[in-house]
Amino acid sequence: MTYTIISFHIPARSMSNTAVNQERFMLKKADRIDGMALSEIVAISEEAARLRAQGHDVLALSTGEPDFPTPPHICDAAYRAMQDGQTRYPPTAGTAALRAAIAEKAGAEPGKVIVATGAKQVLADMFLATLNAGDEVIVPAPYWTSYSDIVALSGGETVLVRCGAAAGFKMTPAQLEAAITPRTRWVLLNSPSNPSGAVYTAAELAALGQVLARHPHVWIASDEIYDLICYVPFTSFREACPDLAGRTIVINGVSKAHAMTGWRIGWGIAPADLVKAMLAVQGQITSGACSIAQAAALEAVTGEQSHIPERRDAFRDRRDFVVAALDAIPGISCPMPDGAFYVFPSCEAVLGQVTPDGKLLETDADFCAYVLAATGLAIVPGRAFGLPGHFRLSYAYARADLEDGCARLNRAVDGLIPNQRTAS
Ligand code: PLP
Repeated sequence: MTYTIISFHIPARSMSNTAVNQERFMLKKADRIDGMALSEIVAISEEAARLRAQGHDVLALSTGEPDFPTPPHICDAAYRAMQDGQTRYPPTAGTAALRAAIAEKAGAEPGKVIVATGAKQVLADMFLATLNAGDEVIVPAPYWTSYSDIVALSGGETVLVRCGAAAGFKMTPAQLEAAITPRTRWVLLNSPSNPSGAVYTAAELAALGQVLARHPHVWIASDEIYDLICYVPFTSFREACPDLAGRTIVINGVSKAHAMTGWRIGWGIAPADLVKAMLAVQGQITSGACSIAQAAALEAVTGEQSHIPERRDAFRDRRDFVVAALDAIPGISCPMPDGAFYVFPSCEAVLGQVTPDGKLLETDADFCAYVLAATGLAIVPGRAFGLPGHFRLSYAYARADLEDGCARLNRAVDGLIPNQRTAS
């Protein structure tokens, strides 16, 4: 019997070789993920989990996920799809039935619909398909934290436009005009907004549309994932600015309104050439969204809808309670949001105060860290959303938890000591 000897080298076990090997096996991250920090929301959740594991009484009002279950008729549609054998690779753009249903609701053609693994994947497909290094994306702040990371991952640069409480957290036409440069590729709107709950009226969208009409190199992405959780009349960007449909993508999905965050189905309605470019990305990354989840989403879009107004009413009641309770806390001012399930109060008036153990609260992040340490309540600092001086609290939780959360916040603020040096 003959053997082929393949030469290989086993390094001697010396200290210096161990160090060499450690260096050799050290993970080298790609430049494109270099600037991506662990999301502040995830960091807060992890700190809350760590405290809970140590036996502390922790209440997290920090995540953006409905506490309701997926309605049973939607789950049934998924079981049926499995039993019918809808278990093979789906078409990359989405099943014909789901694309047709989405298109019909939006008054678009099915060829202009792309179904993806959540709205997040739609954003990733779209930016990966269209951004080159240095291209700019205008994002009004406060904004959903993932936007800037997905833009960075795609090689682009986020241009933040700060929209404070006085402006209803909304971008004005003048701000938009001033932010546009020859490098602008996209403006990314989100109405109703995460985290502020702001909703643009038809007139406000039309006014932004007038600016955009003068800049044909800028495309519009309108993230409308909270459209069915809206307490004032909702207008889609496509309805407000039909003349811009040739460079507009509307993003939506089933995660929020139908409590289907785990099913991972979202979609975009866009010009056919953009859909085609996005398919080139999606085809190599996911091959399309889960066939069973798409069957469930089809039922969500076309089936019984009574859970939508019921849950919207429940969210409105919770919103009213939380806004009143937080606004009554001295130093906290809580604007009334018109949609989604978040409040975005200001904590600016308590900054400069000192905690019972002598720590000066300088930033919103200091404030949120103090609230968590002092009372076990997890909330997210506004800086994570591009607008410091605020915090986000999600009211997609049971009423008892919201009452408990507001009481904890009140206790935390009550424990603060005015700073003698700054108070004078
Ligand atoms: N867009 C906004 C504004 C969101 O808040 C979220 C989730 O928090 C998403 C998109 C992502 O939705 P999906 O679960 O469909 O990926």
